Amino acid sequence: MSLRKVIRLRYTLAFRLTLWYAAVFTVSSCAAFIFFYLLITSVFQERTDSELAEQTHRFSALLAVRGVDGVKRAAVLEAQAAGEKKIFFRFLHLSGVAFSSSNMSYWQNISVDRALVQRLLGGERPVLDTIAIPGRKQKIRILYDFISPSIILQLGQALEHNTRFIDAFNRIFVLTMAILILLSALIGWFMARRALSGVAAVTLTAREISEGAFENRVPVAGRGDEVDQLAVTFNRMLDRIQSLVSGIKEMSDNIAHDLKSPITRIRGLAEVTLTTDRSVASYEELTASTIEECDRLLDMINTMLLISKTETGVGSLIAEKVDMTALVADAQELFGVIAEDKGVVLSSEIEENCSCRGDVRMLQRMVANLLDNAIKYTRTSGNVDLALSCSGDERLILTVSDSGIGILPEDLPHIFERFFRCDQSRSEAGTGLGLSLARAVANAHSGRIDVESRHGNGTTFTVVLPVRAQVPAGQADASD
Ligand code: ADP
Repeated sequence: MSLRKVIRLRYTLAFRLTLWYAAVFTVSSCAAFIFFYLLITSVFQERTDSELAEQTHRFSALLAVRGVDGVKRAAVLEAQAAGEKKIFFRFLHLSGVAFSSSNMSYWQNISVDRALVQRLLGGERPVLDTIAIPGRKQKIRILYDFISPSIILQLGQALEHNTRFIDAFNRIFVLTMAILILLSALIGWFMARRALSGVAAVTLTAREISEGAFENRVPVAGRGDEVDQLAVTFNRMLDRIQSLVSGIKEMSDNIAHDLKSPITRIRGLAEVTLTTDRSVASYEELTASTIEECDRLLDMINTMLLISKTETGVGSLIAEKVDMTALVADAQELFGVIAEDKGVVLSSEIEENCSCRGDVRMLQRMVANLLDNAIKYTRTSGNVDLALSCSGDERLILTVSDSGIGILPEDLPHIFERFFRCDQSRSEAGTGLGLSLARAVANAHSGRIDVESRHGNGTTFTVVLPVRAQVPAGQADASD
């Protein structure tokens, strides 16, 4: 691994997690060791103290039986038996002056501590102390106690168990801690890498996508943990972006395609007029056709802009109280004339007092598009029924049904797409944008639009709008 990589590693989350893990593990292990150490040393000390106390009792019992000389001899023998480097005895007057002892050649440095003698005289029994002799490893536990009202015993014992234990403990501690720190770092690194492997996969996928692999998705391990949720959300976001991008692409393809025909027609007409008949009448005809085509084009472009604005929520949708009963009745009146011209019967069932919040102009366009289609795709002497109801719950239901040509099942999923026109209806005038706009308006009012159709047997469009529609944020809110 290069030095740069190692330096970069320092800033990774995995490295920091490992460090934390190792630190917490080390500190808690140290705490456990210290607790264990204190526990064991206190047990050792208690044992030593009870041995010393026992010894004192034996000497005071001996004194009562054999007198001072007997005790002195016993002390020398006892020290020899136990080891003169392990234990010593000193007998003191109440003044603290020694009058007899076991062999003290090894214990020369240990004197009588007058302060401790004073404490004993003051009533504290026994007085215990631990001292260290410079240059020696072992500490010494010393006891001062009376063995008769006039004789004090100073009894010392090397704490060799403690010393051996501490030596062993230190060795084990250092070794175990070294292994534990290494192990905890390794485990921490492994766990952090494992936990973050999903994040690495997201990063890798994001990088691949930025380099052009738009189809790639983050693998989902299926564990249902946070990383999985991140992966699922990330993939969903990618799907959405991809569908938006392909929507934009499709729209620009459609625009290019649908704008081409009127422009080609205008050009063709102009070319024919220029090359053949140059009469004023033919120029007038050309101008009229050009205006007509331009109007069609403008209408298409405006509708496309309106759909985009409505879908993205950018623009001038207004949230105000809309009298839907009046709106639908007006539409019926307006389209009644067109239906009559075509010989189609337009009937209606409009409930009174239906209203909702929304943009009146956009809702008018939605109703007009549905009615226009119903009349357009219904043959002479067919029927178109318009119905509005609002009494059920918090929703308005508008249905536009006709007995017209119907829609093929394979076309049904596409009819709300921009520029989509069923083959059978190409003979009628149209841009293929009316239903896209209707759906965009319904969605912008938190509603939906559904279609049911049987080919050759009529079509029904149902619009469901909540009475208190949430019009997208950022739009003007006119007062009711
Ligand atoms: P157009 O301008 O072609 O009417 P729309 O977006 O309004 O565009 O409709 C898309 C297509 O859906 C139409 O071209 C037509 O084929 C089909 N369609 C819409 N409404 C009806 C209907 N009431 N009956 C039969 N077909 C319909």
